[in-house]
Amino acid sequence: MLSAIVGINWGDEGKGRMVDLLSENYDVVVRYQGGNNAGHTVINHLGKFILNLMPSGILRPEVVNVMGNGMVIDLEHLHKEMGKLISAGVKITPENLKISDRAVICLPYHVMQDCLEEERLADAKYGSTRRGIAPVYGDKYMKKAIRIGDLLQPEALKKHLEGVIEWKNLTIEKVYGAQPVSFDAIWEWLKTYGDPIKEFICDTSLYLDEAEKAGKKIMFEAQLGALRDIDFGIYPYTSSSNTIAAYAPIGSGIPNHKLHNVVGVMKAYSTCVGEGPFTCEMFGKEAEDLREAGGEYGAATGRPRRVGPFDIPASRYGVRVQGADEIALTKMDVLSGFEKIPVCVAYDVNGTITKNFPFGADLDAAKPVVEYVDGWNCDITKCRKPEDLPKAALDYVRYIEKEVGCKIKYVSVGAEREEYIEF
Ligand code: GDP
Ligand code: MG
Repeated sequence: MLSAIVGINWGDEGKGRMVDLLSENYDVVVRYQGGNNAGHTVINHLGKFILNLMPSGILRPEVVNVMGNGMVIDLEHLHKEMGKLISAGVKITPENLKISDRAVICLPYHVMQDCLEEERLADAKYGSTRRGIAPVYGDKYMKKAIRIGDLLQPEALKKHLEGVIEWKNLTIEKVYGAQPVSFDAIWEWLKTYGDPIKEFICDTSLYLDEAEKAGKKIMFEAQLGALRDIDFGIYPYTSSSNTIAAYAPIGSGIPNHKLHNVVGVMKAYSTCVGEGPFTCEMFGKEAEDLREAGGEYGAATGRPRRVGPFDIPASRYGVRVQGADEIALTKMDVLSGFEKIPVCVAYDVNGTITKNFPFGADLDAAKPVVEYVDGWNCDITKCRKPEDLPKAALDYVRYIEKEVGCKIKYVSVGAEREEYIEF
């Protein structure tokens, strides 16, 4: 049984909490793309955790966690993240954490290059998290990457790294006019942060294939959302990897297997971190109230998130490209204080009203068509069954379900593990 939990919108939909909840019924949780630009928040009896690299299943001792070949891994960050989890009492051993030998290492010069490029772009910046993600994926496709498995073959790595650093310094010095990176510093960094994780490195493709054949239940945890997918997202304001469910078998190393179920996570309203078109964006007091009510500040970066009403054209598109079979609608409780709830029902693209998600300059030109539905104006955080919800809240769920064309299976009404309703 292979399931994926993926974001329908711009990310931060609450994937981490849904993985934490649903992984109870799974044997394995796999991250298949992205790096430490993710911020997945999990709140349970052990405390509050913000996971950047580690699959959210790490908080369940019986779950095996896999960091797949599609990931880019900053070893220094991994070292810190593991340290924090271990000191909070989380068990991490080669039995419950497996890191793909084919995953790519995000190095200090990738972070440096990311910052140099954002600074060069100045006002036209992409809104990168500056964690080196675009440069490291760039290197992967230029075939200049250093992979996790290389740590186990130091002689070959040394030779490869020498050539790569010579190449990288051409860009750093001659394009950006910055100080070159030294081989010794990078080598030292690789030893300091690479040596302690050697015991976790394995052929995760083989492991997952055997696990699937043995009937184990495997869950894929995506980072970000459909609108940040490198192919289908709002390019170039996307991430540098495929965030969609279809990539899960590739990014985890089992392209020979098919997904059985895709859970799309979407928020009851919209948020967006970073630059680029965000058609439904609200400003002023209405936006501030929503941002405060939802605590909308980036989990990885602390940046205030841009906010807006639920966006039907964007979410319909997200549902389609994710191939979602069912939806988890999160943060319904955040809308409780609003008398009337705005919904972006369509886009106006140069006078044409559409529910389809536009391309390029059409998206830049799009204006939101906003309508208001009735709010419920009462606390719903204690609701645990659909019939506990006030009628207006239930109507909101049914309305969104119909508009995006996918069954809403879960509604979350609070950040903690048990604060949700199953439909
Ligand atoms: P992810 O990146 O998709 O895993 O989502 P984030 O963790 O970045 O952002 C989701 C935020 O919403 C976190 O702070 C969660 O603790 C919080 N959250 C998740 N579900 C709910 C909910 O139902 N209600 C409320 N109030 N907060 C929630
Ligand atoms: Mg997040």
